[in-house]
Amino acid sequence: MSSAVPIKHPIERPSLPDGMCRRPSSGRNPDMIDLRSDTLTKPTQAMRAAMASAEVGDDVWGEDPTIIELERRTADLLGHEAGLYCPTGTMTNLLGVWLLVERGRELLCDEEAHIIRAEVGGHADLHGITTRTWTTGHTGIPSVATIEDMLSVNSGHVDTQAVALENTHNFGGGSVLPVELLEQVSQLCADNGIRRHLDGARLWNAHVVTGVPLDRYGKLFDTISICYSKGLGAPVGSVLVSDAERIAKARKHRRAMGGSWRQGGMLAAAALYALDNHLDRLTDDHAAAAAMAAEILQRAPQALPNPPQTNIVVLRTGNRTGAEVAELAQERGVLVSVVGTRVVRAVSHLGISGEDCVEAGRIMGELLAG
Ligand SMILES: *Cc1c(COP(=O)(O)O)cnc(C)c1O
Repeated sequence: MSSAVPIKHPIERPSLPDGMCRRPSSGRNPDMIDLRSDTLTKPTQAMRAAMASAEVGDDVWGEDPTIIELERRTADLLGHEAGLYCPTGTMTNLLGVWLLVERGRELLCDEEAHIIRAEVGGHADLHGITTRTWTTGHTGIPSVATIEDMLSVNSGHVDTQAVALENTHNFGGGSVLPVELLEQVSQLCADNGIRRHLDGARLWNAHVVTGVPLDRYGKLFDTISICYSKGLGAPVGSVLVSDAERIAKARKHRRAMGGSWRQGGMLAAAALYALDNHLDRLTDDHAAAAAMAAEILQRAPQALPNPPQTNIVVLRTGNRTGAEVAELAQERGVLVSVVGTRVVRAVSHLGISGEDCVEAGRIMGELLAG
């Protein structure tokens, strides 16, 4: 089998100067293939140049033209009226859910949703919401019937106010929720007076792999959070989109949460640069993840029950714990993250070449074989 991964969109990776290396500069071994997350990407030289020359102003005063442009472009792409640039996807999720679910009311979502697993209880702690979850057997893809059952009303129970979906699904292995499923869930919610939030941290990846226009996804939801700091490679930032009234409300609450910007346009410029230059190249990350998976499937098919659809490879570690496997991988030059007792995750991104992903796949396959 060929180990060559066709690169459709060459990136300036090899020419990064000292101190801007693609792997951890202060890690134990600078030659590690670091697949822990696509948040590890560092801004390229060209992105840094765009940041340095950004027009800026005080965004609390509504005077940062670069932030205004990023918010407008993101809202347009998703078919919504307005956008709000925030430092993290956790904050855009917090604000998006807060707009839809009142204190003491309920949100339905997947038990492996980022909102539930990786946001440190913030939705309950800061906004007093309760949650009820469905299971999917680790795919991240629910059935409409499950959600329908959960929505059935009992006036003596907690009021369900919104459903949150995640696309692509992070802990589901970067799985893509079919747009037809999203349409059915959206209709079901509309019929029942239930609001809809999309955690679209990696909606870019779903869009690139399916060809479904972003606004077709966008119009199915009341609020959407989308990240520039994952595969798109910006150092910071996510945008929440919704209607103008909700975004105005969220803008004020963001201030209360300490998340307002002053001259944040230097960061927003990185996101705009990413939109123009790094969106199409996500196909390279998907090809690299598929090539990595092929190496693993050859040697340890049981480790990979759900082969990757996008850039995330979730591996079952069998008799060993995830922590043990991550440690063994590290000894052989590969960094993966532990996301469950017997689960590790490897994520391709613009800081890692296709060849290194193949090499990592070979190593992980050998570790997990037999
Ligand atoms: C990364 C991520 C977020 C946001 O994370 P931050 O670290 O707060 O930017 C939200 N949802 C999903 C699915 C993610 O993968």
